[in-house]
Amino acid sequence: MIDFWIVFTLLSLIWGSFLNVVAYRLINEKSIVAPRSFCPHCKTTIAWYDNIPVVSWLLLGAKCRHCKKGISALYPFIELLTVFSFVLLYYFEPTFFPAYALFFSALIVTIRTDLEYMLISRMVTLALLPVAWLLSYFQLLPITLTQSLIGSLLGFFSLFFIAQTFYFLTKKHGIGEGDFDLLALIGAFTGAKGVFFTLLIGSWIGSIISIAYIIIAGKNVQAKIPFGPFLALGTMSYVLWHNSIEQAVMYFAL
Ligand SMILES: [Zn+2]
Repeated sequence: MIDFWIVFTLLSLIWGSFLNVVAYRLINEKSIVAPRSFCPHCKTTIAWYDNIPVVSWLLLGAKCRHCKKGISALYPFIELLTVFSFVLLYYFEPTFFPAYALFFSALIVTIRTDLEYMLISRMVTLALLPVAWLLSYFQLLPITLTQSLIGSLLGFFSLFFIAQTFYFLTKKHGIGEGDFDLLALIGAFTGAKGVFFTLLIGSWIGSIISIAYIIIAGKNVQAKIPFGPFLALGTMSYVLWHNSIEQAVMYFAL
């Protein structure tokens, strides 16, 4: 059993490293398979021993071996997030692990691109909607096809209407279009109930982190904080702990 978890952790780490590459190349419009990893600053090809997840980043002191320019802390962050979330996922949801692992991978890529570029690629949101519908149809997800379809529509339009209302009240664009696509994906994998709880948990995590950020960075900061990562973390929490979360919300609501 210990052997299983060691192998599982190592494979998740490698997968997390691949998700970093996917995120980078989706935004910079490069092929995901061809050519090998290179430094984004000096374009030097990265040797295999400098490309070991987390370990190389630490050993190199977060710098490229050749040009000494900084390597983003997002690399080890994404790799560790993949490991933690996949271990929890396999522990709590072994039955639906394959479908949810695909879902989590799309969410992790989204977290990276939204944090780094304030962008969410449709390749990991809208493009995966039909995949989620198929997975629900073949009972590889714990929701029916109808629930998945309703979830997609509800996810897209609930945030669309919130954004319209926000714009009407403040004349500011608070929520990006990528967020509608993301919540459509979330609805496709978790249904209407998932959309509801994701918005609830996402706003909650978002508020706490934003307030903490404003306190640490100073009051006058007009920071643009992306909403996508909070939605992604919210829905991951919902998938992992839906029973406890539903009970807790019911308890506080009644
Ligand atoms: Zn370099």
